[in-house]
Amino acid sequence: MTDIETNNMLESTQLVIEEALQKLGYGEDMIAFLKEPIRLLTVRIPIRMDDGNTRVFIGYRSQHNDAVGPTKGGVRFHPDVNEMEVKALSIWMSIKCGIANLPYGGGKGGIICDPRKMSFRELERLSRGYVRAISQIVGPSKDIPAPDVMTNSQIMAWMMDEYSRIREFDSPGFITGKPLVLGGSLGRESATARGVAIMIDEALSKKGIPLQDARVVIQGFGNAGSYLAKFMHEAGAKVIGISDVNAALYNEKGLDIEDLMERRDSFGTVTNLFKDTITNEELLSLDCDILVPAAIENQITADNADKIRAKIIVEAANGPTTLEATRIVTERGILLVPDVLASAGGVIVSYFEWVQNNQGYYWSEAEVDTKLREMMVHGFNQVYELHQTRHVNMRLAAYMVGVRKMAEAVRFRGWV
Ligand code: NAD
Repeated sequence: MTDIETNNMLESTQLVIEEALQKLGYGEDMIAFLKEPIRLLTVRIPIRMDDGNTRVFIGYRSQHNDAVGPTKGGVRFHPDVNEMEVKALSIWMSIKCGIANLPYGGGKGGIICDPRKMSFRELERLSRGYVRAISQIVGPSKDIPAPDVMTNSQIMAWMMDEYSRIREFDSPGFITGKPLVLGGSLGRESATARGVAIMIDEALSKKGIPLQDARVVIQGFGNAGSYLAKFMHEAGAKVIGISDVNAALYNEKGLDIEDLMERRDSFGTVTNLFKDTITNEELLSLDCDILVPAAIENQITADNADKIRAKIIVEAANGPTTLEATRIVTERGILLVPDVLASAGGVIVSYFEWVQNNQGYYWSEAEVDTKLREMMVHGFNQVYELHQTRHVNMRLAAYMVGVRKMAEAVRFRGWV
């Protein structure tokens, strides 16, 4: 990702927040306050590598706003991590938490590194070093991290252990996405896809399309995309297209999802095993009922928005559709369920994990699923209703719902 693209990601988020606050009747002071994170910490983490040399890694933790409660959001390990991206992602987390009515503001963290080129022990030292570096500003009632791109339950376990050692008491509520034996929640791993599937149900019912035999196209076959393909297949829909970073697979009769799930690698790549492929660009313009971008940002742009033939777009990925493309597809009558609503399943079940940790009492997977559905459907209804009554697109409606509680909390606290 280039700096300009990252800037755009932050700028476009700020544009929508500004418009949302204006429509809600807030003035320039509130806009100036909520457009930027309240806190951004940059840390330098020296790590002894396996070859004996020390390497210094740069990490960030951004906290958008803590008026509602502690901040919450994942930690990303990726070579492209940068300040602008972490800031934008922390703002998106605030909006997601607001839509789901969680008692949190948004946070996000990241380290510039490539975990694919690091050993298991180097990754452990880096995870622990990051927690030591940010320990002053995080904690179960301050800021609660979670997994994100290229971080997983093992990394969460090391981070939880390091924090518990620093504080000298066991602190499972410091971080979510942990392994089950360390206080993780049932249903957390597939929560994002489960939430996206619930949003697909709601969007289909608005469009009067039955799920049975509905044609689904999913870009990306990682955590979000592959579980979603599985859920759609199990529910009787026809997954006619999937893709990964290399290429895409298409079969109008429906792909064999169980086989693809078994053969994909841990980075969500599978198309390299097939000869007969199409491109990601071709995948996006397939004739289908539901298109789910579940890979990376900026995939549906002003260049290809006219070619989309789906009736519904449900954004599992963060930022896959640009603002201009949002305008184009909305004008074309395509129902777009935006990222800040559609991909909130992960943070909702992270919240459940934190609640279970705080209570010391653990729920069944059925209980997690029922409560997740309740929250996602409530969020969808609020956004859809505002979209209809205020005649704004679904993205702006989602931001209006998402930022409202935070702005109210800021006002009641007397900060602005
Ligand atoms: P992942 O790393 O598990 O999988 C990503 C998938 O996208 C892989 O199949 C990869 O090959 C593919 N991909 C990568 N670059 C691509 C490109 N240029 N073109 C097409 N495909 C490409 O990631 P994930 O956890 O499934 O996350 C996917 C998206 O969903 C991200 O935007 C992420 O921020 C968002 N998201 C994920 C979660 C979650 O809980 N996993 C929660 C909220 C949002």
